[in-house]
Amino acid sequence: MAELPRNSDVADQIELLADLLELEGKDTFRVVAYRRAAARVRETSGSVAQFALEGRAKELQGIGKTIEEKIVQIVEIGEIEALTKKKAGVPPEVVLFMKARIWRELGVETLDELKVAAESERLRTLAGLGAKSEEKILAALAYQAESPEPGRHLLGAGLPAVRGVVAALRELPAAIAVSEAGSVRRRKETFRDLDIIASATEPAELTEHFANLKWVVDVAAHGDTKATVVSRDGLRFDLRVVPPESFGNLLQHFTGSKDHNVAMREEAVRRGLSISEYGVTNVETDDVFRSADEDAVYEFLGYQPIPPELRENSGELEAARRGELPKLVELKDVRGDLHTHSHWSADGKNTLEEMLEGAAARGYEYYAVTDHSHYLREGRLQAQLEEIERLRGRFPQLRILAGVEANIRSSGEVDVPEEDLALLDWVVASVHQAPDSRPTERVLEAMQNPYVDCIGHLTGRRIGKRPPRDVDVERVIAAALETGTLLEINGQPDRLDLRDVHARSAKEAGLRLVVSSDAHSIRAQSYVELAVAQARRGWLTKGDVVNTRTWKQLDKLRKKRR
Ligand SMILES: [Zn+2]
Ligand SMILES: [Zn+2]
Repeated sequence: MAELPRNSDVADQIELLADLLELEGKDTFRVVAYRRAAARVRETSGSVAQFALEGRAKELQGIGKTIEEKIVQIVEIGEIEALTKKKAGVPPEVVLFMKARIWRELGVETLDELKVAAESERLRTLAGLGAKSEEKILAALAYQAESPEPGRHLLGAGLPAVRGVVAALRELPAAIAVSEAGSVRRRKETFRDLDIIASATEPAELTEHFANLKWVVDVAAHGDTKATVVSRDGLRFDLRVVPPESFGNLLQHFTGSKDHNVAMREEAVRRGLSISEYGVTNVETDDVFRSADEDAVYEFLGYQPIPPELRENSGELEAARRGELPKLVELKDVRGDLHTHSHWSADGKNTLEEMLEGAAARGYEYYAVTDHSHYLREGRLQAQLEEIERLRGRFPQLRILAGVEANIRSSGEVDVPEEDLALLDWVVASVHQAPDSRPTERVLEAMQNPYVDCIGHLTGRRIGKRPPRDVDVERVIAAALETGTLLEINGQPDRLDLRDVHARSAKEAGLRLVVSSDAHSIRAQSYVELAVAQARRGWLTKGDVVNTRTWKQLDKLRKKRR
């Protein structure tokens, strides 16, 4: 048999795959997972390739079955298949670039920076690259920025859909329990398909009803206990009907994540327990624990019940074992929205009055009207302030905050003069223009402005459309603490910006965040729920979110204006 690849070679391939994925600005969770796996491979003393061949590599922390399979591919065909494919999709220059890691020399770490470096003709200073390479890199990047990852959908599209199906199935007399499961239950920002788990007195009745729902355009599979259908919108739903006595075990199993479940199983083995999707077996006595209740499964294993949003094997099991899980923020805790638009913005879909009606219907105590500054020039800001004044009487229960979403220029200045800012109750400042050669500095400078209360959608990403700008989030968090500026979790389905891991870093640094809808229509006011979901994935409690407070409390917490 040929010599096995060394751990460093295996790690290099996994890392290159992560780099190429990151360059595309997609699937950041996988990027992080691959990097973690590569680091683990490097640290391991035995041959990881050998372990993979024996099916034991997945016993290493951070290495799951998928990565083990990739390592086997390296042994068998010399390269990870996905890597071969990814490399084919970009010009060889980009691969060379990533491989040689000369990009680090230039301080280039993301697509945006690579683009700027190519545009400013800095790449040609590197050995082996010329003007042609710059051109090819720019062409490749332009293409990739446009193509969304095939087969993935936004949480915002899936959540109402899966809820609708769950509600429809629950109505059936045969249904005992029905729940969403999978990544959508964990509120991951994108999903491939929508999983539903149910138990029933007559399983076939559920699968039959499911396959015949009126918006189903394709039934990919249909049995007595399982069915897969595709909706009109191209969303794929998987329904499994499971035995009622194991519903809790199966719901836990099919909610994932895989990393969470693997870690939980490994921990159970050390305690003489064996977990399968149907039950927990005491290895010594052969007793099997089954439960219809998912919480009971966690409790049997010695954990606090773990909210689905935390199940990513990022410390939740340890915290649950110690009984130290945070009590996560909930939608009902939110007292007001601090980033919204109306007809005053050309892209707003409803009048100010309609938006305020929506806000009042949601039971908010306060609501900031923050139309785009570029639509409020030439007296329009004053005119809007007058309209807000007029509307106050219509909504006595709702404190209307006159605000603005100002643009942060590349210099770091905001595009609204201070005398205007001084008239307003609430100021969001955001970057809207790209490209961006100093993405961090311009935000840091905007935070120095005494009127800027909150930075909007910090990284500017649009999931599947536009990668995040290369903002040094840690530096921004530090400056936010120093200046008293807030950061938001923007709830627009394709933004979710800050994303979960950044929200968690902010919390850990001691920063409180705003959850906002950035609604441009009444319907979109509900996006605040997606912001709350990201906040929960970032381990945030009610106390970590400022707009769970009354306006009076919030006002005291924010930056002093002078
Ligand atoms: Zn914006
Ligand atoms: Zn906005």
